[in-house]
Amino acid sequence: MIYQVLDKIYKIELPIPFPLKSMNVYFIDDSPRTLVDAGIKTEVSFETLKKGLETIGVGLNSIERILITHGHIDHYGQAKRLSSLSGAPIYIHSKEYGRIRSFIHSLGFIKSILLRNGAPETLANEAIHYMESAQIMADSLDEAFFLDDGDSILFKSMTWKTIHCPGHSPGLICFHWPEKKILFTGDHLLKEITPNPILNVPEYRPPFRYPSLKDYLNSLEKIERLGLSLLLPAHGEEIHDVKALIQKIFTHHKGRMDRILFSLSKKEKTPFQIAMDLFPGVPPFEVFLGISEAVGHLDILKEKGIVKVNEKEGKDYYSLET
Ligand SMILES: [Zn+2]
Ligand SMILES: [Zn+2]
Repeated sequence: MIYQVLDKIYKIELPIPFPLKSMNVYFIDDSPRTLVDAGIKTEVSFETLKKGLETIGVGLNSIERILITHGHIDHYGQAKRLSSLSGAPIYIHSKEYGRIRSFIHSLGFIKSILLRNGAPETLANEAIHYMESAQIMADSLDEAFFLDDGDSILFKSMTWKTIHCPGHSPGLICFHWPEKKILFTGDHLLKEITPNPILNVPEYRPPFRYPSLKDYLNSLEKIERLGLSLLLPAHGEEIHDVKALIQKIFTHHKGRMDRILFSLSKKEKTPFQIAMDLFPGVPPFEVFLGISEAVGHLDILKEKGIVKVNEKEGKDYYSLET
């Protein structure tokens, strides 16, 4: 399905085999003809994009530039295939490029983080197996150009700015069209769901850990200061009331902090046990997301001196600071 959001901007909804069900690719009909995100690598995603563009008289081979917001497979999965077809260069943040290239080799490390955070071995194995098998729906990237905060993205009739918004992913970038007060948000801001800050391999050696939620909340403040009037997210509908959404997310995280403190009020717990309190009965892949969520909040609470961590038999236990 394709529809015109604004002059020159088309939204194409592509199916994904995840609970979110679809993701949005944006086609910018200016020079160079540009795609914002590429979709996952499945035949149905490829055909949907092809048909969508055909209805406005555009062939896949006439795409001239591909911008990727971040390195999750629903966003970059078929970028390489589209680039080989059209010759369009791919642009992405260097941190996401690095993550995509090394992902398969980092699974052992991700497993060790899950175990350290209290996940049972069988669940950690299932989560890793799920992540590994999902890689079939993405081609790794070879050649790509790097974009960083403040970089201009030139079109014949407009200029966008790249905004680095780490949090959901360390190298997530949003694209800002200042004249129209529009932002392409990737997964940084979505209408119905609060984007997960996700556990990531740290940039430095352990025990340093990527501070996903702390970065996320800082990036949110950065976006709030832009005074935007329209957000074009990679999942779900456009967002007009930007201020209200940002406030809702801040409130959501405050509420979650309180729930975590309540969960720790009687005894010490691992992030896995806290995740089970927050999201009882989640399937294996979501265990990873649940632990990510717990750890993101615990990192902030620890930095503020509200909780402390104790290592016992290779697992981290959190308790209230007395
Ligand atoms: Zn994502
Ligand atoms: Zn996504």
